[in-house]
Amino acid sequence: MSEPSTENLDPVIMSEQQFTQAACYIKDLKKGLIDFLKKPKRITIVNFPIEMDDGSVQSIQGYRVLHNQVFGPGKGGMRYHPDVTMEEVVSLAKLMTWKCALVNIPFGGAKGGVVCNTKGLSESELRRITRRFTTELADNIGPHTDIPAPDLYTNAQTMAWIFDTYDMLHPGKNNRPVVTGKPVEMGGSLGRNEATGNGVCHVTERFLSKSLIPEQQTIAGASVVIQGFGNVGAVTADAFSRKGAKILAVSDSAGGVYHEDGLNFEELMAFKAEHGTVVGMPNTMTITNEEILELECDILIPAALSNQIHAANAYNIKARLVVEAANNPTTPDADKILCERGIYLLPDIIVNAGGVTVSYFEWVQNQDNQRWDLDEVNTRLEKIMHKVMDTVFDRWQRYVVGEEVVADEDLVKLAGAEKPLFRSIALSIAIERVASATLMRGIWP
Ligand code: NAD
Repeated sequence: MSEPSTENLDPVIMSEQQFTQAACYIKDLKKGLIDFLKKPKRITIVNFPIEMDDGSVQSIQGYRVLHNQVFGPGKGGMRYHPDVTMEEVVSLAKLMTWKCALVNIPFGGAKGGVVCNTKGLSESELRRITRRFTTELADNIGPHTDIPAPDLYTNAQTMAWIFDTYDMLHPGKNNRPVVTGKPVEMGGSLGRNEATGNGVCHVTERFLSKSLIPEQQTIAGASVVIQGFGNVGAVTADAFSRKGAKILAVSDSAGGVYHEDGLNFEELMAFKAEHGTVVGMPNTMTITNEEILELECDILIPAALSNQIHAANAYNIKARLVVEAANNPTTPDADKILCERGIYLLPDIIVNAGGVTVSYFEWVQNQDNQRWDLDEVNTRLEKIMHKVMDTVFDRWQRYVVGEEVVADEDLVKLAGAEKPLFRSIALSIAIERVASATLMRGIWP
């Protein structure tokens, strides 16, 4: 097993490194504008007390970061996790700006988090935390300012509580678009719950069809390993199974399960529902969350936490292709190592953009009190995901064959990026769009 990474895992530093690598491919970026785009527009930090079920009181800290609103209101998930930090939320808010710009939806980037361990909380404690957090955020969120969605350890129920609290504070208005990922009965979009995982599948399918991996041009027959079996991981497993992939292993916070002939999705779901984990499923071998990443497979999909593939284990990855369903699962050092080793990596900014895309569909439906049918949602999603993959791939290929050359050789040296990464190319497209729109709007006053 690998040693822990000794890299600097500060999320702000890592997102700066990614930005620097992307800057190599951006022409005519004004220095002051780069500095502005690196920073969030607003950081809200709130502290509040919560009365627990046993009568004790706990102090809770929460964050909401709005990175950029050039294309529209901020958009981004709310995560509840004991390891949430302001730096992490800032870097994820930035990622949302680039993601929305890349898929061409009229949102900016935002993210939120509450430092708590949902596993130790009752439903009523979670509801009180969510309502109080929403109240403390006040008008820092809103249908036209900043729109939360589910993320790690939050779900449609969390969004229902945020909506209800916001609606009580702003009576007499259509407040449904204040959050997305709501329960369908409350204005949630059909297909939103599955959107991120389905998007992972669409992007992978499109990438494979480009024949960069000649022996694996379709999902059918691919052996797949997925770290994380929550919303994104489970839907991804289902989508890949339906396309004929063999799911060799999946994991959750308790560990993972492996079977060389493949795991059955329905059996995994049933076991997880009954036991709260996939670990212990009959006829499977138990493995750790570190071991799962190093399994021999065609496609490795991290779908849980950040920094899972790092400098210390990147040399042990045996997959042909890494598909980032989670946000920031790969460190910049690991990115370079995988690239040197000829392992392709599709970055989070493309891969998991299906979630925010259908969140946008939900927001549009809510504005008009409309309900699109599932086919319409899924067809639109697939088209957008394919287009994003094509756009990034085309530009990447132009650099690879030399039709385009890097804007600044010094920047390339600084970034240490010998070959273009899909991440850097995708980021460069997004950053260019945001920078150009900022100038087009005209810098006020
Ligand atoms: P979730 O809470 O539904 O699931 C998280 C999963 O990670 C669970 O299976 C959990 O057991 C597992 N996990 C927790 N700690 C782990 C550990 N130490 N090792 C391995 N697995 C562990 O969350 P989700 O919505 O599925 O989000 C997963 C990732 O996808 C996150 O990085 C999130 O930011 C990203 N993402 C989610 C969406 C969305 O629409 N939900 C959209 C874009 C990106």
